[in-house]
Amino acid sequence: MSVQERRLIYANVGKPGYTPDIDCYLKHGGYEALKKAFAMKPEEVCKEVTASGLRGRGGAGFPTGMKWSFLDRKSGKPIYLVVNADESEPGTYKDRQIIYFDPHQIIEGTLITAYAIQAKQAFIYIRGEFQNGAKYLEKAIAEAKAKNLCGDKILGSDYSVEIVVHRGGGCYVCGEETGLIESLEGKRGYPRIKPPYFPAVLGLYNCPTIVNNAETMAQVKHVVSLGGAEFAKIGVPGDSGTHIWGVSGLVKKPGLYEIEAGKATFGQLLNDFCGGPLDGRKFKAIIPGGSSTKILKFGERFKGKLPNGTEFDWALEDIPLDSNSIAACGTGLGTGGTIVLDDSVEMIQALANLNAFYAHETCGQCTPCREGSLWLSRISKRVCSGKGREEDPALLLDIANQVAGRTICAHGEAVAWPVQSAVPKFKDEYLDSIRRAKAGEQSPYTLKLI
Ligand code: SF4
Repeated sequence: MSVQERRLIYANVGKPGYTPDIDCYLKHGGYEALKKAFAMKPEEVCKEVTASGLRGRGGAGFPTGMKWSFLDRKSGKPIYLVVNADESEPGTYKDRQIIYFDPHQIIEGTLITAYAIQAKQAFIYIRGEFQNGAKYLEKAIAEAKAKNLCGDKILGSDYSVEIVVHRGGGCYVCGEETGLIESLEGKRGYPRIKPPYFPAVLGLYNCPTIVNNAETMAQVKHVVSLGGAEFAKIGVPGDSGTHIWGVSGLVKKPGLYEIEAGKATFGQLLNDFCGGPLDGRKFKAIIPGGSSTKILKFGERFKGKLPNGTEFDWALEDIPLDSNSIAACGTGLGTGGTIVLDDSVEMIQALANLNAFYAHETCGQCTPCREGSLWLSRISKRVCSGKGREEDPALLLDIANQVAGRTICAHGEAVAWPVQSAVPKFKDEYLDSIRRAKAGEQSPYTLKLI
């Protein structure tokens, strides 16, 4: 294999003898970054994170330092840090591995971030189904407190911060930062309208709040450890550090692979790391970064210009694994949770699954999302049941186009994007499925998804 993994976050995950307790973590250099941060002024820590070019790892890829810079520090209100460990995006399972196997990385990054933004209270929001994950985090916090690394007057300084683990009810929209804040306040997880509810200004309890993903916290520890400028050298301009690719679906070796940003392609990820397609099968499509990112089809060509002006003409296999390259191909790196489909899958069934999920998870506040998601789900199920109409692909697309961009939160895009990307790319297949089902012919697709 020409490209190797570069492990920062998973450096110790899976190592023989490595355990998720604080003694093992300290033996491997744990909490040295926290000590380094405490020797700096909070604003210097913020500068290091900005210089590192770190982008959030929760899906949107927003620059972390810039997010922190939006914080309203003049309001006089308490500042909160909320760590999003909800990990509700289908196809995504990277954060829970850090929580299970190296949770102190998240705790150390949370403490550094809280210090940098001068929060006195931090919350880690985790979905209720991750019962063990919540327990591991609580245990890690208790261990850190026992060693004066968390809580009152940390390391003998004047700075104190408490971290509380909060279990959510298990709801997709609570992964959206304002829905999460509502849930944390004990209310129904309804995403808030922005403006005015930009969390950095009006967040938790209407106070300035930074919401960062759990892996982002672990990355912050490495930023401080290496220094912002050194961290920025890992990866490519515009996307620094490593990405954890969580590949699932129809490949020989699904799993988590930590790769330096931009230093491998989708072809290398799927063939070299994941062992290629199952025997006798061909890759058909991928959903690159969690189920809400747009589908890419094998065989299509991607042409355009990168933000630095470089023109490209790539097959799917050639697309480099960094945010800018993937975005330039019309989709997103998202959470790095890549779902692989092969030629045993009928696309209308895959789409029906996605439609059903987003219809189930709509919070119902916005009419386009509430009605549109249900309508899409009903139509795609109708097609799967053999009662589809030839106009259905166009109808699906029309509905999706009326949802995207017309809602309070990005769930509207998550509803629309699978349809907007899959229907035009697989229109002939949809029409073929509709005609075949009507004629009562046998399906050539062997994998039943619904
Ligand atoms: Fe709720 Fe959907 Fe509107 Fe988001 S887009 S607020 S999930 S109805």
